[in-house]
Amino acid sequence: MNYVTELQCSRCGASAAADRPQTVCAQCAGSLYVRYDLKAIAKVVNPKVLGCRGLVAGEAERSMWKYRELMPTDTPVTLGEGQTPLVQTRRLGRAMGGNRLYVKDEGLNPTGSFKARGLGCAVTMLHQFGVKKIAIPTAGNAGSALAAYCAAAGIEAHIFAPRDVPKGNLAEYNFYGAKVTLVDGLISDCAKRVQEGREREGWYDVSTMKEPYRVEGKKTMGYEVVEQLGWKVPDVLFYPTGGGVGLMGMWMAIEQM
Ligand SMILES: [Zn+2]
Repeated sequence: MNYVTELQCSRCGASAAADRPQTVCAQCAGSLYVRYDLKAIAKVVNPKVLGCRGLVAGEAERSMWKYRELMPTDTPVTLGEGQTPLVQTRRLGRAMGGNRLYVKDEGLNPTGSFKARGLGCAVTMLHQFGVKKIAIPTAGNAGSALAAYCAAAGIEAHIFAPRDVPKGNLAEYNFYGAKVTLVDGLISDCAKRVQEGREREGWYDVSTMKEPYRVEGKKTMGYEVVEQLGWKVPDVLFYPTGGGVGLMGMWMAIEQM
């Protein structure tokens, strides 16, 4: 059962169809968000229902796809991403004034970073839409995640990384069979190369903020934090901004809940 109603521009509110690959808003180039029938979801999902998932069921329920009613599909390409531990700090929280402080250990995701959530979700949707080639500019971890999920889905991954990309990431790109181009310059130069080749090569560009689905994967971090705290929203969340998609996802999750 899928509860997606439409894609909607976060800037001008224009609607876009959710049944085909989309990039940004056709009217104003704003980011498209997936909209759900939250009233219908509220009738079937609650903390008790969610608490029973991922205990004995198949792999999708032991991943971020546990929140499947709030995801853009219920047939994921999953490598077991998400459901990472929330570790209570022993000393740091006390040093900050006696409050309880937890760290979400996203290093336990497949390919070792939270990028697995966003790209796992994006590759899932592009696989459903029949996309054959995906390109990404990356400084490291996003490329590893894209390479792994594309390998799982049977999609060509085209990775553009600066020449000084960490060797561990480069090894992962190659291990997962991605087509790698090392660029003399920064990630912005890599993004230019993806833009230049997009039309000619038939790549779907999964750059930050250029498609609707990476944020859908990232938002599961928000659901997990609240569930792991016993369905309590924390007083304060510290979140590294990076490209901004994870931060948007945390906000989106809490608003939806
Ligand atoms: Zn718009």
